[in-house]
Amino acid sequence: MALVAVGIAGSNSPYADVSGVTEPDFAIRVTLLGTGVPVPNPRQFGPSILVEANDVKLLFDCGRGCAHRLWNLGPQYLRGTQHVFITHLHSDHTVGMPDLYLNGWVMLRPAGLKIYGPKKAEDLMRHIRLAYDEDVIYRVDRQMSTLSRAQLEYSVTTVTDGAEFDFNGVKVTAIRVDHHVVQPAFGYRVDYGGHSVVISGDTAFSTNLIRHSKGADVILHEVVSPALENFVRANYQKDMADDIVALHTLAPDAGRVFNEAGVRLGVFTHLDNNPSTIPELIEQTRETWDGRLEVGEDLMVIDIGEDIEVRRPAHPAESVAG
Ligand SMILES: [Zn+2]
Repeated sequence: MALVAVGIAGSNSPYADVSGVTEPDFAIRVTLLGTGVPVPNPRQFGPSILVEANDVKLLFDCGRGCAHRLWNLGPQYLRGTQHVFITHLHSDHTVGMPDLYLNGWVMLRPAGLKIYGPKKAEDLMRHIRLAYDEDVIYRVDRQMSTLSRAQLEYSVTTVTDGAEFDFNGVKVTAIRVDHHVVQPAFGYRVDYGGHSVVISGDTAFSTNLIRHSKGADVILHEVVSPALENFVRANYQKDMADDIVALHTLAPDAGRVFNEAGVRLGVFTHLDNNPSTIPELIEQTRETWDGRLEVGEDLMVIDIGEDIEVRRPAHPAESVAG
């Protein structure tokens, strides 16, 4: 398998084995920036996924540590990531936004962010901008600075089920999913060069997700792992614990999604991936899915082409330089 120097190689790269060859042999590169849940965990930052294709960088959600993980890939990733799709407005999927928005600006992002997501995403951005106005005043008006307010301008595009977006030939399709009371909630499908990846967002078992995922190469699916379900049931009263679990997908149901969509690879993300918890998760998934399966970790890379290559970072995520 040829390795690729495009984009990801560099002094901050956590991938020791990337060097030398310049021609990509894949259509889409996915990097799991954050695979965690709301429970703070230095190994697993909040939900955030970077998709790269045809020189386009697309970010899906911006949870805790999203800017940090982009910086892990290299400064150009924090500066050069402009398009952000939001799946839904639970805070664990958006708390990294002020850091991406403002720190990316300070690090000389050439233009404002372009946000795509539920209607109320505009409220989120407007209030973040307002909350940090004093910071902007310091940096633009009172410090020696080449920063401008124009580079802080952002746009928010409201997403609906089936909406399509095109970025230099890279197609993104919004998929309405079922996160119960959290409405609307979306997953997204990215297509380029005859290949595709689906991001489930947060959802209970969703037939609409399956419908839109037919023929995709890879699904990145959220999951309530047995370990997380135990944590929830140990920490909340029964009604609340039932409610939390019902918002999400259990492993056998995620396996059904992989199976019915007919994908080449199913990947779990947005979970507790403590190694001691993995065997039970896999065992449950195997009730319904006997295809290729990976459990995500921060900075895992999935190159999708004729082959699908999965690489894990050479170092544990918490020790990556940057
Ligand atoms: Zn979530």
